Amino acid sequence: MSNDRAAANRNTYLPAGMPAPAASRDALDCEFYEAARRHELVVQRCGKCGTFQFPAEWICHKCHAFDPGWHRVSGRARIYSWERVWHPAHPALKNACPYLVVVVELEDAGGVRMVGNLLGDPLQEVRIDAAVEAVFEDHPEGHALIQWRLAAR
Ligand SMILES: [Zn+2]
Repeated sequence: MSNDRAAANRNTYLPAGMPAPAASRDALDCEFYEAARRHELVVQRCGKCGTFQFPAEWICHKCHAFDPGWHRVSGRARIYSWERVWHPAHPALKNACPYLVVVVELEDAGGVRMVGNLLGDPLQEVRIDAAVEAVFEDHPEGHALIQWRLAAR
């Protein structure tokens, strides 16, 4: 099955069978996953010094203040790095290659970076610094993945 057909069956970029993302056992990052289900992108922001950080931590990595809060961001970002994956890293991806993985740098969160898939043609040319925007991909299992698509900016 081609990547396009697999995605069309589920309306997801990658086929079924991948482990669902889950909040950490200590629930530190619950808000991130709950926000994604609401189609909101959030990162931590220190209430004392204003530093953004992701993934979630118990303290601000800059000033060590406790309990950084959650801050909604726009979902606008730029491609920092990328990879076209040709070899399936999981059995569920056996017929899904190639697909694109990007590291993006958020535009309004102090340069915080995240990893996701770049939607669209897996053979498309990918340009570093290209503008992208977050897409919330709802899964039938109840979670939402944050993916990225090229933005018309
Ligand atoms: Zn701080």
